[in-house]
Amino acid sequence: MKRQIIDTIQQYDKIILHRHVRPDPDAYGSQMGLAELIRTNYPEKQVYAIGQHDDSLSFMAHPDAIEDAVFENALVIVTDTANTERIDDQRYTKGAYVIKIDHHPNDDAYGDFLWVDTDASSCSEMIYELYEEAKETHHWKMSDAAARLLFAGIVGDTGRFLFPSAGVKTFDAAGQLIQYNFDRNKLFDGMYEMDRKLLHLQGYLYQNFVIDENGAAYIKVTNDVLRDFDVTPSETSLLVGSLGNVKGICAWVIFIEEGETIRVRLRSKGPIINQLAKKYNGGGHPLASGASASSWEEADLVIEDLKEICRDYQ
Ligand code: AMP
Repeated sequence: MKRQIIDTIQQYDKIILHRHVRPDPDAYGSQMGLAELIRTNYPEKQVYAIGQHDDSLSFMAHPDAIEDAVFENALVIVTDTANTERIDDQRYTKGAYVIKIDHHPNDDAYGDFLWVDTDASSCSEMIYELYEEAKETHHWKMSDAAARLLFAGIVGDTGRFLFPSAGVKTFDAAGQLIQYNFDRNKLFDGMYEMDRKLLHLQGYLYQNFVIDENGAAYIKVTNDVLRDFDVTPSETSLLVGSLGNVKGICAWVIFIEEGETIRVRLRSKGPIINQLAKKYNGGGHPLASGASASSWEEADLVIEDLKEICRDYQ
């Protein structure tokens, strides 16, 4: 599988890398980390990592912007993206050949060639594995920039190695990557330093979340709350995991009002919640998923479903 991806990369002069909308460190890490690896090992190839930039990830890298014509005869690689609707941007169909590399459940098996490993902690860990294979078979070299990006992606998707998805392979990859020359402290600052206003909102979450007797918890972050704290919906990403520190919590949902829709962000310490996310047109990992609700009434239905899941789990 990995061998075939490496051979395909070798065959194309132009390679365009995509990842998912509303990017996170693993989206940038896997996409731009692979782009860096290809640039390092094939300097003659044209390599572009595209998609809308998110300011909160400026410490990692900035995407490229390309014209439609670049897609002609190009190899497209989409990383960390489970379904076609979430691919940023939708011109991925214009490429000559599409490869999907992902660690989410393969509900939407798009692409001409797929490598999906739901056991991988992160897509960045998969890219590291791809590199290991290519190092053996094609003498690929790692660069400092690629190591930094892949390390950030792994750290991001494992919650700093906290989640059960972080296994031996994850720690091995991280152990190799930190041997390259990048400023780890600066990277962690970029990932985890928060503005005071965001910490104030975190205080609000801790003070106002609701939890039932089975550890099912929720909090509604309305437009008014966001306005009061002067925080944008995308800035709340760093807060989603924070309820995991609450003793006795089993699974939780944070609702973030985003214009007309309500973003549903689900996390769990045990019960599987991605089926619930799917029920509300979302998806994701067994313990970290997301969906959208069109009204607060629908959000209340999500809460009821989550309560039932936690009750059954106890
Ligand atoms: P988030 O809460 O946005 O960090 O999302 C957690 C996980 O759920 C991510 O890995 C996404 O793959 C997945 N996810 C979030 N929102 C959606 C959605 N609307 N549709 C499908 N998957 C989603």
